[in-house]
Amino acid sequence: MTLSTPIGQVPRIGAAYEAKLRKMGITTVRDLLFHFPRTYVDFSTITPIRDLKEGEVYCVSGTLLDIKETRTFRKRVSLITALVEDKTGAIKILWFNQPYLVDSLKPKDEIYLAGKVVRDKEGIYISNPVHEKAGGGLSAQAGKSLTHVGRIIPVYPETIDVSSRWLRSIIKMVLAQVKEMPETLPQEMLRERNFIPIQKALWQIHFPDSMEQAQQASRRFSFEELFYILLFILAERKKIAQVKAPVIPFDETVMKRFTGKLPFQLTDDQKKAAWYILKDMEKPRPMNRLLEGDVGSGKTVVAAMAMLSAVKAGYQAALLAPTEILAQQHHKTVAKVLTPFKITIGLLTGKTDRFISPKLPNDYIEISRSKLLEKVKNNEVQVLIGTHSLIQDTVKFGNLALVVVDEQHRFGVKQRARLLHRTTLIPHLLSMTATPIPRTLAMTLYGDLDLTLITQLPNGRKQIITRVVPPAGREKAYEAIAEQIAQGRQAFVICPRIERTEKSPKDVEVKTVKEEYEKLSKEIFPDLRIEMLHGKMATKEKEGIMRKFKFGKIDVLVSTSVVEVGVDIPNATVMMIEGADRFGLAQLHQFRGRVGRAEHQSYCFLFSESNSFFARKRLKALEESSSGFELAERDLHIRGPGDFAGTKQWGIPDFAMQQLTNLELVEQAREAAKMILEKDITLKNYPLLREKVADFRERLHLE
Ligand code: ADP
Ligand code: MG
Repeated sequence: MTLSTPIGQVPRIGAAYEAKLRKMGITTVRDLLFHFPRTYVDFSTITPIRDLKEGEVYCVSGTLLDIKETRTFRKRVSLITALVEDKTGAIKILWFNQPYLVDSLKPKDEIYLAGKVVRDKEGIYISNPVHEKAGGGLSAQAGKSLTHVGRIIPVYPETIDVSSRWLRSIIKMVLAQVKEMPETLPQEMLRERNFIPIQKALWQIHFPDSMEQAQQASRRFSFEELFYILLFILAERKKIAQVKAPVIPFDETVMKRFTGKLPFQLTDDQKKAAWYILKDMEKPRPMNRLLEGDVGSGKTVVAAMAMLSAVKAGYQAALLAPTEILAQQHHKTVAKVLTPFKITIGLLTGKTDRFISPKLPNDYIEISRSKLLEKVKNNEVQVLIGTHSLIQDTVKFGNLALVVVDEQHRFGVKQRARLLHRTTLIPHLLSMTATPIPRTLAMTLYGDLDLTLITQLPNGRKQIITRVVPPAGREKAYEAIAEQIAQGRQAFVICPRIERTEKSPKDVEVKTVKEEYEKLSKEIFPDLRIEMLHGKMATKEKEGIMRKFKFGKIDVLVSTSVVEVGVDIPNATVMMIEGADRFGLAQLHQFRGRVGRAEHQSYCFLFSESNSFFARKRLKALEESSSGFELAERDLHIRGPGDFAGTKQWGIPDFAMQQLTNLELVEQAREAAKMILEKDITLKNYPLLREKVADFRERLHLE
């Protein structure tokens, strides 16, 4: 048996279990051994029976004296009673509803038991203990005597199909039988960092001799995962540092003219961000910068400066938006600020293609796809804005020097790569996102990017008033909405679900879009224009609704979380979120960012029916903080990194994901990766590492 042996060939795993394991993503022996425990229970201390006290959980070892099955008066429940005796005394044992035990446990068996000592009308006894026969069967084969009791035992992530007890036995047997387990980390790294070698580490993470050993093993594996990711990222970065990019001179006069024409002053953060970006583009190496700024922090104008700079240097720039509406929005705003510089701008979205020539500053002409592509090819279009359709192979740029990607996590890493490998000179890349990524995550997952933050909001923008509303406050909140709409404003209502599913008819607490829509349009606000929006609607329909909302033809929009990130509806001033405790803080902050985009005072109401103290406390954080970064950091610590954008595409195992919050470990892994690459950039002396890096590359480029 080796690590790559298919799970179906492992003794004692039949077809049924093979299928169950497959569902858990386990198909090889390696997958099985890297299915790590969620936690451990310490059953390592054996207590003499004489010392047992009621109410506590103990582990005892002794001889089984008497074992028999009885039925309770209801006849339905099987009850097995037995007696266990050690040198110091004896105690009764009761097993409820496990009739099969009669077949496997016999009098005189030497046995280990772990369970709670209780006293009731049956007397004093150990209730439903975990059991294991000493020196028997599988355990003996595995070379270590005990698996389930009398040691620290692993508890695996919960599933309905596969019990921890079963996994424990199988994993132990497999651990003992896998002969070849090549060390994956370089020997010098093991020595320097005092890591447990792989084989021992696998034993210790499943069947630790002490909790300290379990932690050591877990540290090794977590480090290892982070190390691979960083090795890949840093290697890619070195590779890209060797390719050439167009040099775009930083023309201060043009930039001054640009900012002079804006109806507002740039914030210091915007200035700084622009400066970094323009400086990056002066270098003959491709820029790879992430501009992270809270909603409404004004990233678009910074991107416009970069695009202006590229065009003034004689090149083209492209701006990719995640949706059609956003592409159109960008087309409009970018045109407004760039046409005074006689720049031609095209919009390519998949349906309607538009072209703005400098002679038509506030208007566009519709042209055919082929005409537009022709203009893109011969540099007549200087800035091209669009959705994914921008990165189709049919779109050929004459002279592309800058790619701006808005809400970059919506684009796969692969798509980014595709754009980058388009031309001989690699264009500069600027990614923008309003999804706050905690620092640790940014460092790890976007470690190949330089990071620029915009943390200030433009002057004059009013703080959004945020309130966690208890059920009793609902009436008042509706009144506030009515008042806002009477003043000509608009409101969002977000619900966690689209509709009630058959599975959850009793789950009355959770609000659904369809029901809230009914209620609001019939009972609460019969006179208002109310519409709904959710993920089951066709794209066209959704876009139609968004457009109506944008143009003020809808008063209240009841929606699921699909409501677009980045869509600018300055006239919306109320964001009401139902079942707020069901969303992450960062996501709630995103919703809140849909309002407060203009001079009007805006409001965010968080409804929660949850009685949980922690849920309320978590929501209170939104009342207290208006910083997406702060909230994201809190979220990361409360909920773990699983919810954050971008983490999925790396396929990082859960146990390593948990470690992403561990800044120190991330730093160590980064250091280690750097050191290896400095010595051996092609990894020719580290075939296993090279394979790992190649794996990543393939996963990302072929996904
Ligand atoms: P985001 O960072 O969310 O993409 P936008 O770029 O869409 O934000 O900007 C939001 C709004 O703020 C736009 O209407 C924009 O014109 C305006 N804006 C940007 N910068 C400033 C500023 N420095 N002062 C005032 N308003 C600004
Ligand atoms: Mg934006």
